[in-house]
Amino acid sequence: MRDEAIKIFEEARSEGRDFLFEHEAKKLCALYGLPVTTFTISKTEDEAVDAAKEIGFPVVLKIVSPQVLHKSDAGGVLINIEDEDGVRTGYRKILENVKAKVPGAVITGILVQEMAPSSTEIIVGSTKDPTFGPTLMFGLGGIFVEILKDVSFRLAPITKTDAEEMIREIRSYKILEGARGMPKADQEAIVDILLKTSKMLMECPEIKELDMNPVLVYEKGAKIVDARVILE
Ligand code: ADP
Ligand code: MG
Repeated sequence: MRDEAIKIFEEARSEGRDFLFEHEAKKLCALYGLPVTTFTISKTEDEAVDAAKEIGFPVVLKIVSPQVLHKSDAGGVLINIEDEDGVRTGYRKILENVKAKVPGAVITGILVQEMAPSSTEIIVGSTKDPTFGPTLMFGLGGIFVEILKDVSFRLAPITKTDAEEMIREIRSYKILEGARGMPKADQEAIVDILLKTSKMLMECPEIKELDMNPVLVYEKGAKIVDARVILE
């Protein structure tokens, strides 16, 4: 596990990057048993079509470029693509958007991935405290974190009890319980993600910041649809 993780970090550094591409971050997460969407990186439109057929429609297309850290800001994310035609026009559209928004951006490829059905969105993140090391953050996605700052924190490593407390102590906890017709969220799946993330952070001091945003949580299970890692 550690050897494979080191390979991912070294490849990024050898290319002069201080962050992991989404597919690299997801590969790292998968090494620790975290539930990420399936994905394939494509370099041509035809490859993207083959990848989409392999993964199964609908799919999501995303830009992979060292100059693009926030993909949707650059017009680099298209979701819910239903067929081959959609992949072809989407592929071109993303390249066009990114070239317009980030002049001179180098295009590494286009990531084709499984489209996760929409559900309750959570985020799991980490920053490093200079004295105490990696922290873990948990919250609900979207307005809950951006406007209400409704999040919980712990220092890593965490125990199962810590993880359960992190979930329960946010103010919007009732949403996860299925308040007001919201789908009930699989809290065990969230606990599992928090514990595995804690383990990954403890074993990978190369991670300076981690942002899994969003993670979609279902009645059964969860899917990490975006992951970003900033390196030390
Ligand atoms: P950004 O780099 O802008 O954060 P994301 O990968 O988070 O890009 O994609 C932007 C949004 O698109 C996400 O917040 C999510 O709502 C949606 N999305 C991205 N990937 C998927 C996916 N595989 N399945 C479903 N929705 C997705
Ligand atoms: Mg995101």
